[in-house]
Amino acid sequence: MAGRTALRQMMFTFLDAISAHMPMSPKPTPAAKPQILGRDDILEAQSRDWLSAIGLKEGAQKVQVVWNGKLRSTAGYARWPQWLVELNPRLREYDGQVERTLKHELAHLVAYSRSNRRRIEPHGVEWRQACIDLGIPDENVRHTLPLPRTRQQRKFAYKCGHCGITVERVRKFRRYSACLTCCRKHNEGRYDARFQFVLLKKG
Ligand SMILES: [Zn+2]
Ligand SMILES: [Zn+2]
Repeated sequence: MAGRTALRQMMFTFLDAISAHMPMSPKPTPAAKPQILGRDDILEAQSRDWLSAIGLKEGAQKVQVVWNGKLRSTAGYARWPQWLVELNPRLREYDGQVERTLKHELAHLVAYSRSNRRRIEPHGVEWRQACIDLGIPDENVRHTLPLPRTRQQRKFAYKCGHCGITVERVRKFRRYSACLTCCRKHNEGRYDARFQFVLLKKG
């Protein structure tokens, strides 16, 4: 009798342990998620479903979803007519933002596909309608996530031969440019070739 009770006790403990463990096992912790780059099969399958549901067979066939590690301040990017969506891997750090951004970008592709080569505004009525159809009617034009801002590298430096001031530029001056300080001081603010900027270095 005593032996039976002990066995039952053991089984109970065993089953208890399993059921206590079960709910934990299917949920990986965020840190355990692999940091994949490149194509994402699961997101592509989801996109196919969404596009099929709104009758876009061609899109459903062609759509590709890619994690692009080079995106910084951009949350996502839609490439038309390739039916390609690029996503910023940092989106995975924010709840619900992967799906949201994916739908935002798909809405661009949906809008372009429906517009039939007609020129449309990127975030115009066609895009807005596509957002409604994809279930994000209140989607914003720009994301508000704290993704790092891209700071464009200033590759060009110019110097004023007169006062010696230097300016750095992302792009080259398209035409001759002169030092404003010197033009104001010595030429009543009008352009004067004497104060023309001289290019110092190229990137
Ligand atoms: Zn957009
Ligand atoms: Zn100057």
